Amino acid sequence: MKAFVQGVPQIVPESWCLRCKICCRFPDTVGVQVPVFSPAEAEWAQSSSGKELWFEALPGSPSLVPRLARSESGCQCPAFESETSTCSIYPVRPLDCRLYPFVLTEDRAGTRAVLSMDTKCPYLQEHGADPEVLEYAAHLGRYLETETALAYWKTNPGIVGPAWPEFISVAPLPSLSAKLQGEPRVPHPALRPLTLEEIPMLEESLHLRPHQGSAYTAAGLLGWKDLIRLWWARLDGNFCLFAEQGGGLFMPLPPLGEAFNPSAVRQAWQIMASANQGGSVSRIEGIEGADGGRFVSMGFRMAPAEPEYLYRREDLAALRGDPYRSQRWALNRLTRNFQVVLRSFQEKDLVPCLQLYTRWAIERQRSFGESFSKRLIRDGLFFHRRLMMSAGPLHLSGWVAEVEGKIGGYTFGGAVSGGTFCVFLEITDRRIPGLSQFLFREISSQLVSHPLINGMGDEGLPGLRRAKLSYRPMGEAVCLIASRSDAAVRSR
Ligand code: SF4
Repeated sequence: MKAFVQGVPQIVPESWCLRCKICCRFPDTVGVQVPVFSPAEAEWAQSSSGKELWFEALPGSPSLVPRLARSESGCQCPAFESETSTCSIYPVRPLDCRLYPFVLTEDRAGTRAVLSMDTKCPYLQEHGADPEVLEYAAHLGRYLETETALAYWKTNPGIVGPAWPEFISVAPLPSLSAKLQGEPRVPHPALRPLTLEEIPMLEESLHLRPHQGSAYTAAGLLGWKDLIRLWWARLDGNFCLFAEQGGGLFMPLPPLGEAFNPSAVRQAWQIMASANQGGSVSRIEGIEGADGGRFVSMGFRMAPAEPEYLYRREDLAALRGDPYRSQRWALNRLTRNFQVVLRSFQEKDLVPCLQLYTRWAIERQRSFGESFSKRLIRDGLFFHRRLMMSAGPLHLSGWVAEVEGKIGGYTFGGAVSGGTFCVFLEITDRRIPGLSQFLFREISSQLVSHPLINGMGDEGLPGLRRAKLSYRPMGEAVCLIASRSDAAVRSR
């Protein structure tokens, strides 16, 4: 086990660590990321250093945390030497410290383990998107899934901590997650797991009626499959989809059929009620148009979900007239200064695009004050990677913008039934103004068979809202969420 702990190489150069004012020091004793030791690591630290490091147990766990020492500026690890900015037990420091600035955390639902990077680390702020750092993250992801790692985790489960807003999830840890969750549990006997193999059946059901919302696509549903478990059942002839997050079951879409089917709704609700044991998680999302009234007549309460902006493709391709002056100005500036071309995404673009995302996410994490967007940014890498890697089976189109021969931006989207094209991802190098406008206009020019473009929602962020409104949407794709007490649904 010692060899396993000591087998984690240091990625951050010593010169950076010695200058850093972040590691090993904390603003307070509570609610902070203290290092978590296994009992063996605590023993090694005490016996090899001869230092009296006081530990306390994490409640309900064999893991131990050192009692922080109060200092003038806050608190610090008892092993930290402030005069030299060094760790007095460096050769026997625990795995948690060796991994940093990578950290083991739960996902946002608190059910799966992921490897994250802490964007507070000054080294990562500058080098987090470098190829060698991303390769190192991938290596760590594999290292932490070995049998020895899983055995280590049993002695130190507390090392998997909560996800903090400044983190970016970089690698899923499916074996560790399976250990965290215990035996895989089917939430209800009527449900079967949804995999990429079910996509043709799912898409057939999604196309039975016209839709505009991004949730009515295989990509919008399966893109989050690294973080959300999806299940399905056929109820009264309808394809019914269920999502499991945070231990609860909900429906991201109503039962899919040629028409509204109250019997399928009732059966689906009973499955959720039984799986959730009367909890308040049960809900049906993605309800469009007149179906809202039909749910109300069944006794459901309706609430609006975040709307998504709809644009006329022709408007975006032409950018004509005064309302689009700022976009034309940005485009002219871009093409005056740079050689830019749009081309289809190819497999070889995966790594540069993920690097671009990581750089973008680190910058956004640093500058964004709004915690909701931070959560989205944190888990976004999984969504982007899944869409890029499964673009074929998910029937997605992907493009990259090459600026002076290097990838400066990428975008991915797919068709919703009824002629709408949904743009799921768009990331550009923020140092190149006009690139976002270029991508949006160029793909709009190519999508001639789609009269409408769904540009997704604004996540409640005023800046994003202003940007989306500046493209003059012709309307919104509005979906409703139905919820109700179990008794009320049974009685109707
Ligand atoms: S054990 Fe060493 S590296 Fe870890 S927090 Fe304490 S001083 Fe820092």
